[in-house]
Amino acid sequence: MCISNRSYSSSNNISTPSTNGINFRELVLVDKIKECEDIVSFYFKDVDNKNLKKHKAGQFLPFKIQTEDPKYKGVMRTYSLSMVPNESMYRISVKKIKNGLISSYLHDKLNIGDKIEAMDPIGIFTIKENSKNKPLVLISAGIGVTPLLSMLYEESKKRDNIYFVQAVQNSSIHPFKNDVDAICKYRNLSHIIFYSNPLECDKEGVDYDFAGRIDKEWIKNNLPLDGDFYFCGPLAFMKALESNLLDLGVKEEYINYELFS
Ligand SMILES: Cc1cc2nc3c(=O)[nH]c(=O)nc-3n(C[C@H](O)[C@H](O)[C@H](O)COP(=O)(O)OP(=O)(O)OC[C@H]3O[C@@H](n4cnc5c(N)ncnc54)[C@H](O)[C@@H]3O)c2cc1C
Repeated sequence: MCISNRSYSSSNNISTPSTNGINFRELVLVDKIKECEDIVSFYFKDVDNKNLKKHKAGQFLPFKIQTEDPKYKGVMRTYSLSMVPNESMYRISVKKIKNGLISSYLHDKLNIGDKIEAMDPIGIFTIKENSKNKPLVLISAGIGVTPLLSMLYEESKKRDNIYFVQAVQNSSIHPFKNDVDAICKYRNLSHIIFYSNPLECDKEGVDYDFAGRIDKEWIKNNLPLDGDFYFCGPLAFMKALESNLLDLGVKEEYINYELFS
């Protein structure tokens, strides 16, 4: 299996960084919104309301919590920016991980008005400049939707050859459904939803398009194999997807992904 280093940036999840020479900026939490079960979005502004560095869609924000508690002090994590690139506000969307140190802190302890210390957004999982004329295929599983959502916001302003494929368990953990629906309807983009484990109340054709997982046959019949592919999700999902795309003849240079852990 060849999940390689091409656009793989899990090593960017810095846990014990040297902060020497790194510029941190104070950001203040201005809003906190529950997206669905276990996923909350956090909205940050510069503490002095100065302009922020505009990120490239797909990049992430490395930061540490501002606290004197030795359990959290100095610990860094990175979260993909999940909003349209802009200079006034950053949004991250975090899944609470069982026994996860910082995701639990953010969910349970970080309140509006609290501060964090953030680096400028970084990351190489961004849309390539030369991809404009090719179909753009954005595929996510679970919380892996965050960088792809930012790409969708940005790219849908410029083109309509976008396929947005979102795989989640079911409607209870389906973040950003309304946002994605609205953008895709407005721009007439292809929006496909997979539920791996639909609830009894979830209706095929209404809440989701396909039950189960994205497989090779489905990709072959439904996605443009001459497209530029960007995907993010759990490792097993990405390995299967990469292997299927390569088997179907998609060239390596058109396969881009990012792993969160
Ligand atoms: C580029 C990038 C972008 C990312 N973007 C997002 C995003 O948009 N949204 C998002 O939700 N996440 C994102 N992540 C993941 C995020 O950075 C964190 O890794 C994640 O939130 C877990 O951090 P944590 O501190 O909560 O968990 P940690 O404390 O680091 O724990 C991680 C795992 O280890 C287990 N663990 C912890 N301590 C122990 C122990 N003593 N023994 C056994 N197991 C243990 C935990 O149960 C958990 O499963 C991204 C990661 C990367 C690299």
